Amino acid sequence: MNEEIAVAARLYYADAYLRAFDARVIERLTWDGRPAVVLERTAFYPTSGGQPNDTGSLDGVQVVDVVEREADGAVVHILADELPGDTVHGEINWVRRFDHMQQHTGQHILSQAFTIALEADTVGFHLGGEVSTIDLNRAPLSEDQLNQVEGLANEVVFSNKLVDARFVDRRELEKLPLRKPPQVTGPIRIVEVAGFDWSPCGGTHCQRTGEVGIIKVVRAERRGAETRVHFLCGERALADYRRKNRLVLDLAARFSVGDWELADAVERLSEEARTYHKQVRALQEQLLDYEAAALIAGAEKLAGAWVVRRTYTDRSVDEIRHLAQRLTAEPGVIALLGQGSAGEKVQLVFARSADLTYDMNALLRAACQVIGGSGGGRPNFAQGGGPDGARVEEALTVAWEQISESANQRGSEL
Ligand SMILES: [Zn+2]
Repeated sequence: MNEEIAVAARLYYADAYLRAFDARVIERLTWDGRPAVVLERTAFYPTSGGQPNDTGSLDGVQVVDVVEREADGAVVHILADELPGDTVHGEINWVRRFDHMQQHTGQHILSQAFTIALEADTVGFHLGGEVSTIDLNRAPLSEDQLNQVEGLANEVVFSNKLVDARFVDRRELEKLPLRKPPQVTGPIRIVEVAGFDWSPCGGTHCQRTGEVGIIKVVRAERRGAETRVHFLCGERALADYRRKNRLVLDLAARFSVGDWELADAVERLSEEARTYHKQVRALQEQLLDYEAAALIAGAEKLAGAWVVRRTYTDRSVDEIRHLAQRLTAEPGVIALLGQGSAGEKVQLVFARSADLTYDMNALLRAACQVIGGSGGGRPNFAQGGGPDGARVEEALTVAWEQISESANQRGSEL
């Protein structure tokens, strides 16, 4: 296929607004296991230059992907099903196409605005399914700088400039103030935003900048020496505004304030939450004091100590450690506390008051053997755990009996 025929065969070059066409099938092939065709001419745009492919149908058969064959540049239409006809009627998905036109033309305008205002040149472009990005060779960029560029880009939109796409010869090319050099060999197509931007590009573009609609920078992130700018144009920007406006109105309604008072309302709520959190903590401490006092009052006297023996299933290990500390802040107390139940892991916390001499570390090791685990600590405070939750009571009994035995031994020594 010679170059001029190749150019003529791509109908979208001359008319990006062409939605339907008829063409002869010149090749049938299989592409990644799916049926595919090459047509004598086509309005379908193949994925290239940062712009995704068109979708649509050929004789009612769905076109699921369109690619450029590397070997000869042929446009391959990948189909959902076999296509019997030799001459086919093609229709492209116009909503998708026009969205791509808005984003791509918007990108040219935005890229040139960055170059003009900040000397930040575009080194990458990705037209995404939801958000598009350009990578700039400058970082970091301030919010003021981004606003300045966004303002300039939208001025170009509002002035409704003509956008012209045409093939140029070498002589004309040399005279144009190109934003970037051409990256293809063969015929060069220039997309010109009248008096503003000249870029080599094979993409589909709006005829006038007004069709792009608003150009909105939604986010910028620094990536080393570059900045990635996320932007939305036209219909996408409208959808984003609609969604965010709904969100703000819903939030404002929940706080019963106007949207301009929302930030203050959120700040007040956070402040309240911090205050409540502090109060809850203080109340928990008080409650723990009462609980410890009640447990000691109901404890059994064993070998000269008040032994509090309890197993909990609904408290964290932290809470239990805390409780053990409270209990043993009083004189003459031993706390044998367990956490967990049958079928789950179990934790043990053993502690004693400073005026007693029992070795909690030794007690804990003996108890942990029962539940198939291990642990350790100091003579006055030890913690451990094991997998056999069903035997937690048995483990506490072992500790209890050891206290009892050591008391008897001491008694017999007297
Ligand atoms: Zn382009």
